[in-house]
Amino acid sequence: MHILVVGGAGYIGSATAAHFIAAGHQVTVFDNLVRGHREAVPSEARFILGDVGDRAALDVLFQTLDIDAVAHFAAFIEAGESMQNPGKYFHNNVTNSQILLEAMVTHGVKRLVFSSTAAVYATKNSAIDENDPLGPSNVYGETKLMIERMIHWYHSQLGLRYAILRYFNACGAMLDADGRVLRGEAHTPETHLIPLTLQVALGQRERMKIFGNDYPTPDGTCVRDYIHIEDLASAHVLALEAVDERCAMTYNLGNGQGYSVQEVINVAREVTGHPIPTDVVERRPGDAPILIASAERINHDLGWQPRYPSLHEIIASAWAWHQNPYY
Ligand code: UDP
Repeated sequence: MHILVVGGAGYIGSATAAHFIAAGHQVTVFDNLVRGHREAVPSEARFILGDVGDRAALDVLFQTLDIDAVAHFAAFIEAGESMQNPGKYFHNNVTNSQILLEAMVTHGVKRLVFSSTAAVYATKNSAIDENDPLGPSNVYGETKLMIERMIHWYHSQLGLRYAILRYFNACGAMLDADGRVLRGEAHTPETHLIPLTLQVALGQRERMKIFGNDYPTPDGTCVRDYIHIEDLASAHVLALEAVDERCAMTYNLGNGQGYSVQEVINVAREVTGHPIPTDVVERRPGDAPILIASAERINHDLGWQPRYPSLHEIIASAWAWHQNPYY
């Protein structure tokens, strides 16, 4: 298939583009490079600079290229920022996704893989499955849920076939067979736990802030399910290749194992050999106490299984990247 990867210069989009190419698909990346990196785009992919909110650009693109499917990653993703500036998130994520959906159906492109999030769920003490109650704690999660709902209606009314993939906490870096780093996480500004922790180990930051230690969790810090980007990327290939048969899929992607913020920092200390000093500060608005995936459904339906479930291995790959990033 010829796959348009919208947001394919970003962290997860670029990793997935590489997996599509490795699986024998043709890839065109469309990205405005506001958050993405041109260097992250696989060299085999065509790159087009543009904004998903630009309907005229999308029309030209769909008219001139024979696109079979879209994988849509373009979004702002920071829970904290979304609480400070909801409008920015509703516009960039929801409004622009609707423009993309409309362009797709206008040009007869009927296959979509959509990048969603665990933040659509209400918090739960045990593993969350796809039937568990929805209830975003932050505006970011709400925007992804709104897009999911639009996709559902484009499916039922207009025949769009889709796979919605709800990622838990994406992390780690892609290495080649010889252990050389291919691509990794590089957000500006960086707000995510693992990269920030590694920046302390690199001496780029003095101390790590722990956002609250009075949550109803075993050590009081928030618990998340950390999933390697290689494993996220492989799921997109399986989902896209199943979309004609299954038509409407929604899957969680996680390891089924929760780690607290404190535990993540402890593993980072082991990996880096750095003491990584911490301060406990106020809770960050919008953080759910616990989010752990059950990925039983995608395992059952598509045979997906994470290949890199070890948090130690995940952080070691991220550490390899952060010591030597090239973008
Ligand atoms: N976190 C933290 N300090 C930081 C960054 C994050 O304590 O400097 C916590 C955050 O409150 C959350 C967890 O780490 O409980 C994961 O946050 P991240 O932003 O990496 O991902 P999210 O779960 O928000 O998608």
